[in-house]
Amino acid sequence: MAIDLPEISTDQLLNMRPSRNDLDPFRPYHFLVEQEFSAYGSLGNVATLFLTNRECPFHCVMCDLWKNTLTSTVPDSAIPTQVLYALQKLEIDPMAPMSVPDIKLYNSGNFFDTRAIPKDQRTELGQIVSRFRTVVVENHPAFCDEQCEEFNNMLDGQLEVAIGLETIHPDILPWLNKQMTTESFREAVERLTYSGIRVRTFILLRPPGLTEAEGIHWAVRSIEFAFDCGVECCSIVPVRSGNGALDQMQETGKFTTTKINAMEEVLERGLELKRGRVFMDLWDVEQFYRCKSCSEQRAARIHQMNTTQTVTKPVICQINCAGRSV
Ligand code: SF4
Ligand SMILES: [Zn+2]
Repeated sequence: MAIDLPEISTDQLLNMRPSRNDLDPFRPYHFLVEQEFSAYGSLGNVATLFLTNRECPFHCVMCDLWKNTLTSTVPDSAIPTQVLYALQKLEIDPMAPMSVPDIKLYNSGNFFDTRAIPKDQRTELGQIVSRFRTVVVENHPAFCDEQCEEFNNMLDGQLEVAIGLETIHPDILPWLNKQMTTESFREAVERLTYSGIRVRTFILLRPPGLTEAEGIHWAVRSIEFAFDCGVECCSIVPVRSGNGALDQMQETGKFTTTKINAMEEVLERGLELKRGRVFMDLWDVEQFYRCKSCSEQRAARIHQMNTTQTVTKPVICQINCAGRSV
C-alpha cells in the first residue's frame, strides 16, 4: 500500500526551519569522550568531535544537523584548529592516543565534500589523527570516491565511514529527499569495503508515514539490508521532531515519534542477528518514554545492550504496558 505523505519541496523545507545557531568557524560546536563497544570486541573510549563547517548540500526532510552549520566554507586552517582545540581540551595527545584510541570527526554532512572540508585541511587532519586506532567520518554515497581511499592511506589506523541508509522502505527513502537509492548505498559500501575501509550506517526508527509496528519492521529490514551490503555497524536513530518540517507533520498527525519499547525491540532483534555491532541512539531518550512504571528501566537495558552488544534480561513492567498502548 502506498504511503500517504505530503510532497515537500526543498523551498518549503527551508521555509519551515527554525533559526540556525551562531557558530565560530574555529571551534567545534561540541566535543566529548564517550564509551562505545568497539569493532575490536570490547568497551572503549571514543572522542567524538562535532565540527563546525558548511551545511550539507542535501536537504533531507528529517535532518536537523544544519542547525549547527555555516552558510559558507570555513576559512583557511579552521578545521585542523577545531580538532587540535578539542583534543587539547579533552587532554588527548594525538601522537599517543592510548586511553582514547578511537575518534569520530562528525561534520553534520559529508567529510569528503570539499566545500565542507577543503582538501588541504583534510590532508592536515589526516596527519593530526593518523595515530588513532579508528577514525570515523560521515559521508553520503555521492562523495564516496577515490578521496576516501586517499584519506585512508594517510592513516596508520583504520578509516571507518558512516553512511546514513535511513530506511529501505521503497516509498519513504525517495520521499526523504536524500537523493540516494538502496543501490547507490550498496555500491558505496562495496567500494569502501573493497578498499579496506570499514562502514557503519545510520538507520531511522519510525520515519513519517509508518505505524509503530511498521516502524519496527522496516528498521529491522533495513539493518538486515545494511549487513547484507557489508556494513559492520548499524546505529539506529529514533526520528525526532525539532527541525521545522517534522514539527509541522507532528501537529497534523502525519508524524508520531516512536516509543522506548520499540527502541528496545529493534536493538534486541538487531543484536540477535549477530552480524555486526548494533547501537540504539539514546540521546534525549526521555521523549520516547510512555510508561511511568518501566520506561527508565528500558532505557537502562538499552544502554546495557549497547555497551555489551548482548541481549540482556527483559524488563518486566509492573502494569504490563507491553501488550497495550500507553
Ligand atoms: S545527507 Fe545527512 S547531513 Fe545531509 S541533509 Fe541528509 S541527513 Fe542531513
Ligand atoms: Zn510499562
